[in-house]
Amino acid sequence: MRQPLVAGNWKMNGDQADASKLLDGILAGLADVKSAELAVCPPFILIPAVASKLAGSPVKWGGQNLDTHHSGAYTGEVSGPMLKDFGCTYAIVGHSERRSYYGEDDNVVAMKFGAAQDNGLTPILCVGESLEERAENATESVINRQLDEVLDAHGIASFANAVIAYEPVWAIGTGKTATPEMAQEVHAYIRGKLVGLDAGVAAGIRLLYGGSMKPDNAAELIAQPDIDGGLIGGASLKAEDFLGIAKAAG
Ligand code: PEP
Repeated sequence: MRQPLVAGNWKMNGDQADASKLLDGILAGLADVKSAELAVCPPFILIPAVASKLAGSPVKWGGQNLDTHHSGAYTGEVSGPMLKDFGCTYAIVGHSERRSYYGEDDNVVAMKFGAAQDNGLTPILCVGESLEERAENATESVINRQLDEVLDAHGIASFANAVIAYEPVWAIGTGKTATPEMAQEVHAYIRGKLVGLDAGVAAGIRLLYGGSMKPDNAAELIAQPDIDGGLIGGASLKAEDFLGIAKAAG
């Protein structure tokens, strides 16, 4: 039985006061969340404050990104050891905004996946197709390419300590959500691909859906057999919405 995971990606939003208020709201509503694991991924600069606020609570935290290197002359970057030092559990890698705005290709994403694991962090590997790619019926080939680079670099065993988020790029921050059937089809495809490599790893890995997930569509999405939770952008910035999704996850 896979424990649902609901992870918030705050992106580049909020200041210390916002983060504190948001976390107060989340912590106050935790009693209503039955089985889902919760995590938040704040901007790097807020991680120390988030870590001290969440320490001792069941809510975990992580980075939205990390560098491929562990330390050195890489101005402006934050490394896996630094995230670990501040108690992070997760690191998002390969978010579509990193891929499209910062030129992160599959090879860089695979290196970041390895950098996270090398430092005891669980990577949340984002994959997903653009609108054009879906229109060209290329969804599966895109996902294959994105997964294969990581599989080739680190092997199927590495997915025993990883989360995959299927995030159709056309659904991120647009208010357009994949229908539960569309999302399930891709999730089943991902799990099926992994089954062919290692049935045990495939059965255990959590596959999240991401793309305009909200309290009112979360239950139907997460009820799909291969959807094990959500990676949440906009709705993770309001405690009520984030908790609403967490409750819908069970
Ligand atoms: C995301 O960016 O990972 C995301 C899912 O965003 P939103 O929920 O706002 O679509």
